[in-house]
Amino acid sequence: MQIVIVGGGLVGASAAVAALRDGHKVTLLERGAAPDAAAANGDWDLRISSVHQKNVEWLEQLGVWTHVDAQKFFSYDGLSVTTRDRQRLHFAADEVNAERLGVMVENEALVRACWQLLRTHEAAKLLAETEVQNYDLEQRVITLSDGKTLSYDLLLGADGANSAVAKAAGIGMRGWDYGMRCLLAIAEVEQPLPTETWEVFRADGPYALLPLGRHLACLIDYRAEEEWHNVTKAEVEQKLQATFADVIGPYKLQKQASFPLRRQRALRYFDARGVALIGDAAHSIHPLAGQGVNLGFADVQVLFERLAAEPLTSALTSYERQQVHVNQQMMRAMDAIHFGFRSEHLLPRAAIAVGLGAVAQIKPLKRQIIKTAMGW
Ligand SMILES: Cc1cc2nc3c(=O)[nH]c(=O)nc-3n(C[C@H](O)[C@H](O)[C@H](O)COP(=O)(O)OP(=O)(O)OC[C@H]3O[C@@H](n4cnc5c(N)ncnc54)[C@H](O)[C@@H]3O)c2cc1C
Repeated sequence: MQIVIVGGGLVGASAAVAALRDGHKVTLLERGAAPDAAAANGDWDLRISSVHQKNVEWLEQLGVWTHVDAQKFFSYDGLSVTTRDRQRLHFAADEVNAERLGVMVENEALVRACWQLLRTHEAAKLLAETEVQNYDLEQRVITLSDGKTLSYDLLLGADGANSAVAKAAGIGMRGWDYGMRCLLAIAEVEQPLPTETWEVFRADGPYALLPLGRHLACLIDYRAEEEWHNVTKAEVEQKLQATFADVIGPYKLQKQASFPLRRQRALRYFDARGVALIGDAAHSIHPLAGQGVNLGFADVQVLFERLAAEPLTSALTSYERQQVHVNQQMMRAMDAIHFGFRSEHLLPRAAIAVGLGAVAQIKPLKRQIIKTAMGW
């Protein structure tokens, strides 16, 4: 089958690798520069993902992982959550006899690895700095910004939250802003960090740490939109200092930036004229549990499983049926955590506190939660 993928980010590029593995021909279109065009930067970029163990193993099987720069990922084997009522629950990989829960990886390094692998395939055509000018969905032909045309059997929209493919196919979106921003900062930490990620909930919104090395961390601080918008660098540094200094000791900030938080989902994941949406083009969720790209990778896995087993339209129908359900469940869970942990009301907070207490007591439940965090 001839597959055209619009969007060469984490999900689009990994979908291209999966498509080639299954014997398809692939054209990958990216409107930005090719991720592997410039030399890799030694410093970590701010866009980082926690990829759970199941997806790390999938990326290993695809042959992607060996291309990821070893300086740009870091394994973590524990995670903890602290509620507003100061209840702390800790999960460790060794409770399920595993070595790690997943890895923190720089998005850019992972995309670069996919593109490097794609370049070794004859059946892959990579077109960077290219956009689609016209979509003829009936004829399954697109016209590119340089005037060339491409025909396809399947067009995948992996072009992120503002998907042009979804618009071309007339697929509507439903979503809303959380009215919050997420501040990310890379910090060099003096004291060695444990190989664990943690998150603390407080009235203003959670704050968290992702370890990137024994002395390097990504600090995350969620606050109301106005608290992170139009603030000076000195104010940001002051707020971070007040939040993190007591927990991690002295540190030096390398860089920081904030992102608005939005929840959005496509009303359909496919169009019978041979179009499907994957990754953030189909759903973007609250990053609080680090699940966004993990859901996108799951879309790719399920889509290619179905394509290998069924005719095209039936495969797309099955893909939508399976993934809408899974992704919506995750979105609802994120909302429950977001509103429950922040709530001023005693009831949701009490329910979460009781829930955490119960989880700590019931070993099989705790082990199941750890396995879910690892992707199983
Ligand atoms: C603050 C923050 C923290 C996050 N942390 C995590 C985490 O820890 N773990 C996790 O799993 N997820 C996390 N996420 C979510 C994760 O980053 C996204 O889910 C993921 O990047 C989505 O990948 P994607 O390839 O679907 O879309 P994108 O990353 O948006 O990639 C889309 C690509 O398509 C290209 N493109 C767009 N439009 C066009 C067009 N018209 N033509 C051609 N190309 C186009 C873009 O240039 C881009 O390369 C986080 C998100 C945020 C905002």
